[in-house]
Amino acid sequence: MELLEALKTYFGYDSFRPGQEAVVSALCSGRDVAAVMPTGAGKSLCFQLPALLLEGITLVVSPLISLMRDQVAALVQAGIPAAFFNSALTERQYALALERARAGRYKLIYVAPERLGTERFLDFALHAEIALLAVDEAHCVSQWGQDFRPHYLEIPDFAARLPRRPVVGAFTATATQAVRRDMRELLQLRDPYEIVTGFDRPNLFFAVRHGREQDKRAWLLEFVKRHGEDSGIVYCATRKKVEEVCALLKAEGVPAGRYHAGLEQEERGRSQEDFLWDRIRVMVATNAFGMGIDKSDVRYVVHYNMPKDMESYYQEAGRAGRDGEKAECVLLYSSADEQTARFLIQQDRENEALDEAQLEQVRRRDYTRLRRMSGYCHTGDCLRRYLLEYFGETPPGRCGSCGNCLEQQEAVDVTAQAAAILRCVARLGPRFGMSTICDLVRGADSRKLRQWGLNHQEGYGVLKGESREHVNDCIRALIAQGCLVRSEGEYPVLGLGQAARRVLEGDSRVTMRASGSGGEARRTGRPS
Ligand code: ADP
Ligand code: ZN
Repeated sequence: MELLEALKTYFGYDSFRPGQEAVVSALCSGRDVAAVMPTGAGKSLCFQLPALLLEGITLVVSPLISLMRDQVAALVQAGIPAAFFNSALTERQYALALERARAGRYKLIYVAPERLGTERFLDFALHAEIALLAVDEAHCVSQWGQDFRPHYLEIPDFAARLPRRPVVGAFTATATQAVRRDMRELLQLRDPYEIVTGFDRPNLFFAVRHGREQDKRAWLLEFVKRHGEDSGIVYCATRKKVEEVCALLKAEGVPAGRYHAGLEQEERGRSQEDFLWDRIRVMVATNAFGMGIDKSDVRYVVHYNMPKDMESYYQEAGRAGRDGEKAECVLLYSSADEQTARFLIQQDRENEALDEAQLEQVRRRDYTRLRRMSGYCHTGDCLRRYLLEYFGETPPGRCGSCGNCLEQQEAVDVTAQAAAILRCVARLGPRFGMSTICDLVRGADSRKLRQWGLNHQEGYGVLKGESREHVNDCIRALIAQGCLVRSEGEYPVLGLGQAARRVLEGDSRVTMRASGSGGEARRTGRPS
């Protein structure tokens, strides 16, 4: 059957999305595939369609129970025989499902990575004709990824044990080079057809807003109300914040629900269903919510706090507008988010298998990522360009339609102030943290400064009259641009970065977004 015809027959779609046809055709011709496609691009179809066209069974390795359940339900509804094998099944259900699988009843079987190596599963798999092994969320194989799953490393062994090695397709939305290499090598793909489809989502509008807690609350309420009946997701950094924000919305009569890992499975399931079926309009959630959510008409994703890295941000924000219609992605930034994020990195106990040295390496990586995320929040440049460049694309120029492009007149030139800060740090060397430097240039009357004799230091009070927020934002902008470097650990100190020289020598300017927390003081230096 022709591919396009099959697409219509089985899935009812009129055309392929970018990349899909090439991937389907590679898999059908027996070639391994490594596909990097952003969330919402339609990865599942890339292995579901070959599953129907190939002789034999397709196994889909997938890390999340909810994701498996949703996809299998959708397939079954479309008349495609599919099942999942994971810990959600009771002993009896599993035995029955295995029996049916042996009888060749399923075309697609979703399986949790932990099951692959178990005796019972192998007993089935070694006697079955498995044509395709699709590895979903394949970045889980990489320690460099955000969700490393050790069992993913066993996938190639499993494939090799089968009577005939199946075609292997690896799929992910994570595009960094290190992860891509790991996918190829650790999953032992053979001469894979590699494809990275465009990360740009033209229908998404991106914006960053700066504000303190009370500004965020007021803004969110106004925003949600303005969006009336639209469905939206509000991501928060912590469970506690989810509770707070959800209560805030409900108190104002907004039909909101909550979702985080601290809730009973049952409530989470119910929340999710309510959201899918539009019984609630706004889902307030931690990042536990989302992988595998297949709701295409989410009109906005608001991040109430800054996420820990750009990968998380783009993945979560990307849940908006999957139907291709316009949708908004707004990040509400406050400087407190930086501390929360640093704290979460310090506390990270997810990688319990790692020793202290490895853990330190992971933390360093996380700090680097956090710095790029923070850069997104502070840049005065096009947000879309910043995002796409992060993911390795070279976009042509300003998009003209993100928050920063629209508010370009609001970008302020802070080169002179930035240079003053840099000179200060240059004189002192990397000895002091952000708040001390801030106090110093603002000429604050503090005991700590006197104690260190910093109130007699050259540069003391050069930025007298500027608000603390403004100076801190300046410092963060300098960190984001590589002019200042912040050390890691509990008491980070500021030192000069490589990019500082160009600013100090007057060869490079520093601009910063103007909208936000600081009131009038922030506007000084704004070009007229
Ligand atoms: P991903 O796994 O890449 O995040 P999904 O596979 O969940 O994305 O697909 C996202 C949405 O796009 C789903 O609602 C899916 O039904 C839809 N979709 C996929 N391929 C097509 C297509 N060719 N035409 C129209 N809709 C599609
Ligand atoms: Zn832009």
